Amino acid sequence: MLNGKTALVTGSTSGIGLGIACQLAAQGANIILNGFGDVDAPKAEVLAAAKAHAIKVGYHGADMSKPAEIEAMMAYAAADFGGVDILVNNAGIQFVANVEDFPPEKWDAIIAINLSSAFHTTRLAIPSMRAKNWGRVINLASAHGLVASAGKSAYVAAKHGLVGFTKSVALETATTGVTANAICPGWVLTPLVQKQIDARAEREGITVEEAQKGLLGEKQPSLQFVTPQQLGDLAVFLCSPAADNIRGVAWNVDGGWVAQ
Ligand code: NAD
Repeated sequence: MLNGKTALVTGSTSGIGLGIACQLAAQGANIILNGFGDVDAPKAEVLAAAKAHAIKVGYHGADMSKPAEIEAMMAYAAADFGGVDILVNNAGIQFVANVEDFPPEKWDAIIAINLSSAFHTTRLAIPSMRAKNWGRVINLASAHGLVASAGKSAYVAAKHGLVGFTKSVALETATTGVTANAICPGWVLTPLVQKQIDARAEREGITVEEAQKGLLGEKQPSLQFVTPQQLGDLAVFLCSPAADNIRGVAWNVDGGWVAQ
């Protein structure tokens, strides 16, 4: 279904980004990976997911907090892949503290990586999407793009901002073949969440299993983690013709979190 298209997934060396890259590859899309840490294993995972599709997999290590590096990544995508058809803005970090204790440099990093990076990739990707009259911008927001939690002011501000940004881009491209939407996951068991589970276990003097149950029980009525594959399948759907007129939505996949 996506043969000949190129998907750039930011923050795709781990977790949700990697899951989405694999599901897009399974539909035949070429993939540009981005993120820190080991690259060989994620590349191999994406190639394995592509099965019989002869896809091209690239990588650019741009730090998403640095606009000049994002520009270099987009130039690489244009030169080596003929541009980005499916832009998945997924890179994100978390830090938890009450606002009066929140380190200003952590605030700046969260806004830069979780919000401003999407502005930079999108502004650079849209011209070639418009020229082809086809494109998909998929922003990984969060349940925290729709509702708040204590201790996460920067993250909640960035994710609410990302949902608003998504709506503006959707309106600007509404008469074209380019769509912009946000995916708002609840808890997904990735390294980002594992850190919060470990911190909870230590803080409360309980086991990691108990901390996991506590975390889910507090917010997620299904009491099950959402999986990166489920989010990847939603991204695939948003790339399908059935989604041509889904524009500017913030689609929660959260086991009932924001229904409460
Ligand atoms: P993760 O920590 O597993 O992966 C984050 C990815 O981003 C990694 O590939 C990492 O290398 C990359 N990254 C971090 N900082 C970067 C930077 N400065 N430049 C480039 N890459 C960078 O996290 P995850 O849980 O898979 O989260 C992915 C996205 O989904 C984030 O935007 C997160 O806020 C969002 N999200 C996660 C959950 C969850 O429960 N895990 C829920 C809702 C939303």
